[in-house]
Amino acid sequence: MKSLLDKPCSRRHLLKGTIRLCVNAGLSSILLDNFLASARCRAATADQAPRFEPAYLEQHRTGELGRRAEEFWSLMEACQLCPRSCGVNRLEGEKGFCQAPGTDLVVSAFQPHFGEERPLVGRGGSGTIFLSHCNLRCVFCQNWEISHLGRGAQRGIEDLAQMMLKLQKIGCHNLNFVTPTHYAAHILKALDIAAADGLRLPIVYNTSGWERAEIVARLDGIVDVYLPDFKYWDGDLSAKYSAGANRYPDDTRMAIREMHRQVGVARPDAKGLIRRGLMIRHLVMPNNTGGSEDIMAWIAATLPKDTYVNIMAQYHPAYKAFDHRELSRRITGEEYRRVVDRARQLGLSNLDVQGYQWLR
Ligand code: SF4
Repeated sequence: MKSLLDKPCSRRHLLKGTIRLCVNAGLSSILLDNFLASARCRAATADQAPRFEPAYLEQHRTGELGRRAEEFWSLMEACQLCPRSCGVNRLEGEKGFCQAPGTDLVVSAFQPHFGEERPLVGRGGSGTIFLSHCNLRCVFCQNWEISHLGRGAQRGIEDLAQMMLKLQKIGCHNLNFVTPTHYAAHILKALDIAAADGLRLPIVYNTSGWERAEIVARLDGIVDVYLPDFKYWDGDLSAKYSAGANRYPDDTRMAIREMHRQVGVARPDAKGLIRRGLMIRHLVMPNNTGGSEDIMAWIAATLPKDTYVNIMAQYHPAYKAFDHRELSRRITGEEYRRVVDRARQLGLSNLDVQGYQWLR
């Protein structure tokens, strides 16, 4: 009888497995094993360049990764991990603005994700780990149950390391930590464990962009791909829609500069995969809420013109967006086109532009 491993790897077959895997982090090992079996043939041909080495491996070998993990851990004693700088002792169970726990973390799901940027998805998917809670808390958040309500399962460091290794085994091209800021210490500790057990995937730091540049600087030599949003240009608007975060534009500009200093321009390899570099996301919002053209101008003036910029068109009102009339509709084709045209005029040459024919 033919085993699962002998079956041809159709995209439909993979997607079916993915859907079954897309459950809470308490996901059943039976489902995961089924997925592992159905995807193993893809893993065999996964485009892991044999000579690629993620940045953190050298740090792991020298012991620096473990040292840095401890340093991050101690920052939770009077938590300073993000610009909120709450100062609570998370190691003693106190909770700050983000509501994230201290010694454990909350994970909503982990799965191969095929909806991220193409150079991260490839054929095997981006190994996405959705972390619960958030320090920014936008009123229009599309994942508000995870970010605002903290939906997910409480997990330990060792569990996180095992998730990383499973995603590698499945054939994912990278480990994509969604909203990692408040769990940076947990991620580094788990990374050190997983690296000892054979982890070789590049790390994608998929953040809202609202970071302390000093904290980002401490990730130098560990993160391979930075994937920050740049959401707002105007501090009054970031304060209004993101829980008082009026320093968002300034902090994000500094953080993105530091990210670029560390990893440079994101360039795809021969197989079209990005394993290192800066990839900026900007979500175009209705009524120019984000200040899109100003953001494009800043990127063009500050970073190389071939900086990867994903101009996203998928805004839709969610969560409490309907409390704000200016946020309570999708964007129009004209709004999207104007941003793309401006970015091109400014000379930005590495734009990820979505089809927008479907926009009004
Ligand atoms: S990570 Fe959470 S607890 Fe720490 S400073 Fe930020 S919001 Fe406060």
